[in-house]
Amino acid sequence: MPDSLILPSESVVDRFLRYVRIDTQSQDDQATTPSTAKQWQLANLLVAELRALGADRVRVSEHCMVYAFLPSNLPAGANVPTIGFIAHIDTSPAVTGTGVNPILHPDYQGGDIVLPADPMQVITAAQNPVLATLIGDDIITTDGTTLLGSDDKAGIATIMTMVDTLMRNPALRHGPIEVAFTADEEIGVGIERFDVEGFGARFAYTVDGGTLGEISDETWSARQATVHFHGKSTHPGTAKGVMVNSIYAFADFLLQMPSDMRPETTEGRVGFVHPYIGTADVEESSVKVLLRDFDAGGLDAKERLLREIASSTAARFPGVTIDVEVKENYRNMKEVLKDHPQLTANVMEAARRAGIEPYMEPIRGGTDGSKLTFRGLPCPNIFTGGHNFHSKLEFNSRRGLEKTTETLVELVKIFAES
Ligand SMILES: [Zn+2]
Repeated sequence: MPDSLILPSESVVDRFLRYVRIDTQSQDDQATTPSTAKQWQLANLLVAELRALGADRVRVSEHCMVYAFLPSNLPAGANVPTIGFIAHIDTSPAVTGTGVNPILHPDYQGGDIVLPADPMQVITAAQNPVLATLIGDDIITTDGTTLLGSDDKAGIATIMTMVDTLMRNPALRHGPIEVAFTADEEIGVGIERFDVEGFGARFAYTVDGGTLGEISDETWSARQATVHFHGKSTHPGTAKGVMVNSIYAFADFLLQMPSDMRPETTEGRVGFVHPYIGTADVEESSVKVLLRDFDAGGLDAKERLLREIASSTAARFPGVTIDVEVKENYRNMKEVLKDHPQLTANVMEAARRAGIEPYMEPIRGGTDGSKLTFRGLPCPNIFTGGHNFHSKLEFNSRRGLEKTTETLVELVKIFAES
């Protein structure tokens, strides 16, 4: 923070350390939003804290979405658009979030970081070149037994600290600001329950990114296929000429997946096809497959390929019926954001004012913003300083959290100036 500012009532690091200790893991394939009741604990805490900070219209929906509003403090008649800031409450189902015990490593001096509760978990300098830029910083890791949940409690802590800072510095001019904290982002369904109309902003920023300076206005276009293999079960003792074992067709299908089109063999702008969970049974096998590409045409081609592989397997396994269902997860938000260049230009300038060198990077994933953008709320994504999401090796740092907060404060100032 610039010296002239009154400090927030609590540091962003203390806030962050408090939030990550609260288990908010979401869970796939649940009938309700939120998918897990434990997300309420942080949601209710944020409601109480937003009220204590003096925010207006603080509310939480029946689906565990927290909303709040900060009125403009500009002179009457100032025409500054309402900016939204969004972060998500839940953490990934991939790694446990129960009993998160954050460890602060003060004044990092280089080298590998061994996590104390499980020495097999090591954040190595070799696999994490970003560590070289964090010398002298205070690094925040897990103890090695859980994820950290910097994704996305870093987003929540930095937005809350921005609110805190703005409330304590009335001389700091800003337009109207809407804040939202969403449930079930990690399982991709919570955002369906987001109240775009009631939110009231014309555009928003998700604060859900990684490396300091990394800003995104592009995500995957994403589909998910479910492939079913129907065979015929019978007692194996009397199966001759009767049994049709769907597991062999399932295996044949998987082995035809091109090896150069996998998450483990692709990076940058290259998309992938990813079978990630399934069941194998004589009578009925099935597998779920993620299809990802930045380009809609490229995604169509991947879907065609999957269907061709299914047909060729079906031809080799008479008696096995295969069906392929494909649904859309989300689309590349660049299709819309290309028409709103000011949103990214302003956040680039805000990062520069905070002393960060900003750059644009497409996200090999989705954000709440991918869906919101297509529902009329254009939503680029801002860094949080976090790394190694959805893993026990997840980490962030003091500078990461502080510089992200500073960027958010500069961003609202920039909109008020324009
Ligand atoms: Zn996230």
